[in-house]
Parts: sequence; structure tokens; C-alpha cells
Amino acid sequence: MQIHERIYIVGSGVTGIGISHESDCTVYMVDGGGEYALIDTGIGIDSNRILQNIDKEGIDIKKISAILLTHGHGDHSGGAVALSQACHAKVYALEETANYVSSGDVDSISIKEAIQAGVFGKDYIYQACPVTPLLDKEHFIIGDITLQIHRTEGHCSGHGCYEMNFKNKKILFSGDAIFNYGMISMQSIWDCDLQKYIETCKKLAYIHPDILLPSHGTFLLEKGYTYIDKAMETIHTLGIPKNLINI
Ligand SMILES: [Zn+2]
Repeated sequence: MQIHERIYIVGSGVTGIGISHESDCTVYMVDGGGEYALIDTGIGIDSNRILQNIDKEGIDIKKISAILLTHGHGDHSGGAVALSQACHAKVYALEETANYVSSGDVDSISIKEAIQAGVFGKDYIYQACPVTPLLDKEHFIIGDITLQIHRTEGHCSGHGCYEMNFKNKKILFSGDAIFNYGMISMQSIWDCDLQKYIETCKKLAYIHPDILLPSHGTFLLEKGYTYIDKAMETIHTLGIPKNLINI
């Protein structure tokens, strides 16, 4: 589904618009003028549905040259191996995420906890995938589009948001950093960190995106900073933004 001149949603489960496997995060596709990149990959149980959605848009999957991961959680990186092989695309992420996904380090990306919580099915098997590390603030070029990664931890280790500038608008692929109505996602897992989350909210407020594209829930095509401002209002009064769990 095309949502912007240069952006499509090609995967999304029950926490989004329901066009691919129910456990998929929202998978965005960026059009760099004939060369494409995916942001995240979904869980990897039925990656063909994502490929079919791309095909329905009339886009040749061989034109997808890169897959950019926001973080290593299964619903975001589990489809990396299937999609990268189908598209012959390389996969990129911040260093920690690159290490976890490349080595199939299921403990570091809390797969067991997600299965126990019922977020993923009991028979879910995570598939490792080679990932090339990116540095914080690194610029990544897809055709005529530049994406910049920002380290935005708190939800988990190695989480990054991707900033894209197009026609004087700032667009932010925000992963699991911020959601509808200023919610955050703190979970009972080893690498959730409130202090880092507050720093992330401040970073996002500084970026002040016009368009906000989270990996779950609704997205904003205008005044994208609204959800971030909502979280910051709470933080400014020494509170903790509302929590969206199990994402
Ligand atoms: Zn996550």
C-alpha cells in the first residue's frame, strides 16, 4: 500500500493494517527512484506474503538492494534471511543488532521471553541472517534518497531509527521507540532501559519529524512530532510515558 510518494507498506500484522502474517511488524519500503530498501522484515513465518505485496505494487523485488533493521526482535528481523535471499539484498543494522541477528543469538533478542508471553507461537524458530553493521549517525544511500540511522535505545539494545529527508520534510522510521499517543514500549527483558528510553525521546523530539512511521499501530503523515511531544510532556513533569507492552 503506497502511503507517500516514496514510501509503501508491504507487510503488517495485527498491530498494524493486517496485510501479512499476524506477527509481522509494519514493514516499510522506500523508493529511492527505482532502487528500493525495506525497513524491517516481519517475523519470517510467511515472508512470501510480503513479496506478493511488493509484486502487487508492480515492483521487481530484484530492485530491492538493502534491508535496514531497526532492531533484532523476531517480529522485525526474523524474515531477514528469506527476504534478503529472495531479493539478493544486503541487510544492515547497528552493530549490536548486526551481531545478534548474524549469530542467531536468540537470548539477546529475547525470543524465549516472547514465546513464553504468547507474542510468538510455541513452535517459532528464529533464523539467523548475515548483517552488516552501521555506525550511529551513518548515512545510507538508496538511489536518490539518503537515510540516516540514529541510535535510539531503551526498548532494547542496538535499536536504531532511520531519518529520511524528502522535499523539505523529515520522515522518521521509528521502529519500536515511540507509538500512538506518545506511548513507549518497556518490557521485562534484559535490555529495556528507562534512562536510555528518556534520552531516546529527547533525541526524537530534537529530530521533530513531519512524518512518523512506527513499526506498530497508527502512523502520522502530518505533524509526526505529535506523539513524541505527548511523551515529552509526561517526561517534563518527571513522569514516565504510558507503556505499550508485548511489542
Ligand atoms: Zn521490539
